[in-house]
Amino acid sequence: MATYDVIVIGSGPGGYVAAIRCAQLGLKTACVDGRETLGGTCLNVGCIPSKALLHATHMLHEAEHNFAAMGLKGKSPSVDWKQMQSYKQDTIDGNTKGIEFLFKKNKIDWIKGWASIPEAGKVKVGDDTHEAKNIIIASGSEPASLKGVEVDEKTVVSSTGALELGKIPKKMVVIGAGVIGLEMGSVYSRLGAEVTVVEYLDAITPGMDAEVQKTFQRILKKQGLKFVMGAAVQGCEVKNGKATVTYKLRKDDSEAEIEADTVLLATGRKPFTDGLGLADLGVEMSERGQIKTDDHWQTNVKGIYAIGDAIDGPMLAHKAEDEGMACAEVLAGNHGHVDYNLIPGVIYTHPEVANVGATEQTLKDEGRAYKVGKFSFMGNGRAKANFAADGFVKILADKETDRILGAHIIGPMAGDLIHEICVAMEFGAAAQDIALTSHAHPTYSEAVREAALACGDGAIHA
Ligand code: FAD
Repeated sequence: MATYDVIVIGSGPGGYVAAIRCAQLGLKTACVDGRETLGGTCLNVGCIPSKALLHATHMLHEAEHNFAAMGLKGKSPSVDWKQMQSYKQDTIDGNTKGIEFLFKKNKIDWIKGWASIPEAGKVKVGDDTHEAKNIIIASGSEPASLKGVEVDEKTVVSSTGALELGKIPKKMVVIGAGVIGLEMGSVYSRLGAEVTVVEYLDAITPGMDAEVQKTFQRILKKQGLKFVMGAAVQGCEVKNGKATVTYKLRKDDSEAEIEADTVLLATGRKPFTDGLGLADLGVEMSERGQIKTDDHWQTNVKGIYAIGDAIDGPMLAHKAEDEGMACAEVLAGNHGHVDYNLIPGVIYTHPEVANVGATEQTLKDEGRAYKVGKFSFMGNGRAKANFAADGFVKILADKETDRILGAHIIGPMAGDLIHEICVAMEFGAAAQDIALTSHAHPTYSEAVREAALACGDGAIHA
């Protein structure tokens, strides 16, 4: 039995970052995970493998659609699915081993196994009970289920199964037009599958800027994805390896069915806290199964903290990381802070979609006077050269003060471009601050400056 200052349960982006920061701050730290490898959902079955497949299939798309126009002629590459899977696995391994290296470097004890908390200050893993002054729960999340749809990870898969299908399906149905559904739907559509996305709501990617939603759906349709909107899935039957998904259209209650080789259930994720013993400890939970914490990530039980997907807030790796760092600072007696208003969201399709801060809808609901500066990538030289001129940058700023309130980007490298605006917003910048900052030419980031200019006297290239 060992004694620690901190034991972190879970080694995803929340847990491993918390552990590293705790160790850097001089706390004796251990991190427990039930998986064979470090890195949690994100590195093993989430962000990293999905981005590897998105990258590989985007390269294929470029070869098939844009190479010839640039004078790069010849046979388009054929798909070696096994090799693409091993490229994905190598990417995972490189990243998880990287965390292993960082744990060694920071002298963090990696305890393999499933943990429970018999009482505050104690963590049980297998037959061993370890003591810790403080415990951070970073146990993450798992795919949400849907009544009538049973996941077997063969024909009907969660995101985990979708990352490692035995073969590329001919027909795929994706239930849910959220981030994961659209990213994985794009992957298989680029690989030749006929992909139909069935969504309960009338718009894709709920909560996003309405103009972005429309543009995004139009672009995805152009890429070959089909959509059935406003459809409540009733069930999914599997026979001889083929699935039939039945749904009811909300507008007229009419029923229809659709067949597929593979069905991806992507209706969201829910916190994972099984086996920790939280009920016996009296840890307060929300109705949605999230661990409740105070502003310093402490639960109602002293010495037990929680971060990441297991608590309230957007289920994003960088939100978990931010909380991991801030919670470690708190445990070391410092100040820890996360600005929940400025957590960017990104969808890694092509084009990418990114957002931060308020949408027009939320500003309207608040009755706040705002102005819109918008710039199309059609006016951006670099985007035109790279066949990436679909989309726009939209900046929302306070009508009186010009302070930036939100930004919405659909276009090339949107996931990187958004950070200029995040930093500007952290500093309370006005749109004019971006507009007056020199931006190198020719870069995609000029579109951000032009959108900022459009909040004032007008963009130059519009
Ligand atoms: P997790 O990463 O879920 O890690 C929790 C870890 O805790 C797991 O390894 C689990 O084994 C371990 N654990 C749980 N209970 C115990 C226990 N009792 N004992 C021991 N170990 C335990 N987010 C982004 O920001 N960008 C993306 O591009 C992105 N893409 C995604 C793609 C997919 C397909 C999926 C599924 C998710 C994606 N996400 C993305 C979401 C992101 O993965 C999560 O928000 C993030 O992993 C949450 O981090 P976490 O540390 O809270 O938990």
